[in-house]
Amino acid sequence: MWFVEWLHYFKHRFSRVPSRRQLQAQVEAYQQTLQSREKQQQSLYRVISKIRASLDLDVIFQTTTKETCKLLRTDRIAVYRFDDNWGGEFVHDFEFSEPSWDEVWDQKTVWDDTYLQDHKGGRYARNEPFFIDDVHNCTLSQCHLDILIQYHINSFATAPIFVGQKLWGILGAYQHFGPRHWTELEIQFLSQVATQLGFAVKQANLLAQAHQKAQEIQAISDQQEILLNLIAEIRESLDLDVLFKTTVKEVRKVLRTDRVGIFQFEAGSHYCTGEFVAENVLPEYDSAIAVRIQDRCFGERYAVNYQKGRMQVLSDVYSANLSDCHISILEKFQVKAQIIIPLTQRGVLWGLLCIHQCRGPRDWIASDLQFVRQLAAQFTVALEHASMLAQIKSQADQLTQTVRSLEVVNSQLEQLSHLDALTQVPNRRYFNSKLEQEWTRLQRNQQPLALIMIDVDYFKRFNDGFGHLAGDRCLQSIAQAVKDVLQRPVDELCRYGGEEFAVILPETDHQGATHIVRNIQQAVQKLAISVPEPFPPPTPFVTVSLGIAVQVPNSESTIHNLIDQADEALYIAKRKGRNTWVVYAEKSR
Ligand code: GH3
Ligand code: MG
Ligand code: MG
Repeated sequence: MWFVEWLHYFKHRFSRVPSRRQLQAQVEAYQQTLQSREKQQQSLYRVISKIRASLDLDVIFQTTTKETCKLLRTDRIAVYRFDDNWGGEFVHDFEFSEPSWDEVWDQKTVWDDTYLQDHKGGRYARNEPFFIDDVHNCTLSQCHLDILIQYHINSFATAPIFVGQKLWGILGAYQHFGPRHWTELEIQFLSQVATQLGFAVKQANLLAQAHQKAQEIQAISDQQEILLNLIAEIRESLDLDVLFKTTVKEVRKVLRTDRVGIFQFEAGSHYCTGEFVAENVLPEYDSAIAVRIQDRCFGERYAVNYQKGRMQVLSDVYSANLSDCHISILEKFQVKAQIIIPLTQRGVLWGLLCIHQCRGPRDWIASDLQFVRQLAAQFTVALEHASMLAQIKSQADQLTQTVRSLEVVNSQLEQLSHLDALTQVPNRRYFNSKLEQEWTRLQRNQQPLALIMIDVDYFKRFNDGFGHLAGDRCLQSIAQAVKDVLQRPVDELCRYGGEEFAVILPETDHQGATHIVRNIQQAVQKLAISVPEPFPPPTPFVTVSLGIAVQVPNSESTIHNLIDQADEALYIAKRKGRNTWVVYAEKSR
């Protein structure tokens, strides 16, 4: 019994056992699958390594579409990118066959799929691939089918590309020539390539962000450097004009804007009138320099805020709710966006630093604002310096003026201090310095220097007889008469003291000196000044006695020696009876 049961079981158990041939076929098929899986994995790694090799998105798309197209042996591989509304465009594709479809399918082909738009990415958003073996033999919506027919697509397989959490686009394989059966392996392969593409896009984005950040940092550091240079210049510059010109030029360069100007308010205009005193503007825009600008509403509406040190930042003048009069002024200079920073001098609003963007609106970034704020602070310092400097300069000018008039008074005083008040000829002090000066000069030239000492005879009696005032007049007349005798400008008559005069005759020898002496004696005689009665002198008129000394100056002698000799000669003349002259000589002693 158990044997029958066993036989039954045995028959049942082994009746389905495949034959040896069947087994062999199964193993071969399995091996084939493994082989093609392995081959596909190898291909995938090859594609992935190519994707990873580049950071340039264009190159990545190009390589991916080309390699995938070859590996899948499909007619076309394309990368499609979604825009914000789930529409999108093909950013790259590769056509394996003859490029016969390009008239309907070119780069940047926009393909707005209402299904995707309505379902926000639809099945792709759930990270599912989508494939149709034969578009004419399936349940696609008519509109979808229309698009596929328009692009000559008979069969397709698509896989979503995710960048991080975001559905970025689709990697699609398309058959133009007819239906195709997509195997699970092929779909898997396409999905894996799409995943890798997502990684690459993310990396490229990160790289682009890093690059942009680096550029921003570079721009900020450039700005800082220029700011430091400008600050140094502002601190050194005492010439506002030069400073203005440098500032507008550098600021325009740093901010890459279209016009930078310095606007100065007219004093006493209550901030309603002013003009640009410096400007740097691109040639394609109108110059605002020296155009007198009158803006009543500015004075009324904006000046208060600027006075408080606030700056105005407008990224678009038309959406800033500005008054019509303000807009019309901005339009005059094509301003579309601007930064306006108040410039104060000693706490009072002096003017504005105006940064204009004319080519269009502009979103100013934080570093731009920081730059202009720092600059304006320095500029205010420069303005204060300039105002202080102007004040000091005007004080200095006044001082110079005072010094100059003092100099005039001084020189007048000096001249007066050289002159004898009564006779208006140089005095004894001048005589000393002049004689010293001529002594030195003639010592160098080895030329003779003659000195004549003149003394009025019996002058005490004259005074006594006619009075002191008549004596003064007499002295004045004699001085004038002697002065008239002297023809050369170098000859000098001085009042030596009391009723004594001295005549300095440079480059004059004994002969020349006696000639002059005779002339002096005659000139005095010619004056014919009467003498008083009771004590008549030898002549009825005032006479003089004269003593002459001549020396070629040398280091052994001095002017005192010369004076002593002349004095001695005079003394001798007096002793001789007056109204005469004597030349000093050793023999005359
Ligand atoms: P002599 O020289 O001939 O020997 O006699 P003298 O009378 O001129 O001599 P002395 O030197 O004694 O007198 C000089 C006088 O000149 C005395 C003084 O009053 C007078 N005298 C000096 N300076 C002035 C002056 O500025 N004005 C007047 N009026 N007289 C003066
Ligand atoms: Mg005398
Ligand atoms: Mg005398």
